[in-house]
Amino acid sequence: MQLARIGSFEVHRITEYEGPFFPPHEFFPDFDPEVVRANQDLLGPRLIDPASGRLIFSFHTFVIKTGHHTILIDSCLGNDKERPTRPQFHRMRTNYLADLAAAGVKPDEVDYVMCTHLHWDHVGWNTRLENGRWVPTFPKARYVMARREFSHWEGVHKQGEDTPHRRAFEDSVLPVVRTGQSQLVDDDFALEDGLWFEAAPGHTPGNVVIHARSAGETALFMGDVLHHPLQLFKPEWSTFACSDRELSRETRTRLVEEHAEHGTKLLPAHFPTPTAGRIRRHNGAYRYAFEE
Ligand SMILES: [Zn+2]
Repeated sequence: MQLARIGSFEVHRITEYEGPFFPPHEFFPDFDPEVVRANQDLLGPRLIDPASGRLIFSFHTFVIKTGHHTILIDSCLGNDKERPTRPQFHRMRTNYLADLAAAGVKPDEVDYVMCTHLHWDHVGWNTRLENGRWVPTFPKARYVMARREFSHWEGVHKQGEDTPHRRAFEDSVLPVVRTGQSQLVDDDFALEDGLWFEAAPGHTPGNVVIHARSAGETALFMGDVLHHPLQLFKPEWSTFACSDRELSRETRTRLVEEHAEHGTKLLPAHFPTPTAGRIRRHNGAYRYAFEE
């Protein structure tokens, strides 16, 4: 099903998992339960699980068909990945490729895979397991990554500490480098007319957001600058997973202010269904207005 249209660009969303993830006090180190209480009517069961109190997250890929290219933004979790410290996703298997086919995309029809950053939940389907080896899932695709982001994780990889991000670099990033399919680019890279990167550092050092513009319409693929609609009430809340919480806070507050002003259509990487929406001003801060 088509999620959105940006001018002549078609946008689809392929969801691998949607459901409870972290409790808010673990995910946001500055969490204040009063913010949830005060905004109960705007949060509700589809954003915070009533049974567990955990934040509802979606893990999805966006597919953009521009008329020139078929592009994936963030390749999600992946099948068969060893993620022992994330038991919920360890050696997971989903129908991702069938869901992608239902959106009219076969693996060899993907021209580009663009990653907002190289965390484990954004690169998983870069590769798949074939006869015990990780091979590119999309045989004809170029995998576009910000050079600054790649260099950071290359350094982490050399240090050898066992984290899901290091494992993901090993099983989902390095294999596409070895086949010559990676394309390392600057933070302001433009793929084609109407599709370009903007540096948005803090969550990770080389994190980017991706702008789309077609026939006078615009949208912003937000990646993990925002993780959950709860952050619109408190844009200063960074997450435990941000590599530089202060810089992440600066980037987030800047982009939230700017796109509240412009009324930009947003497509964040983890917001639950229906995902797309816009930022509205609300009680001296903001709220997220979903677009069905
Ligand atoms: Zn993420």
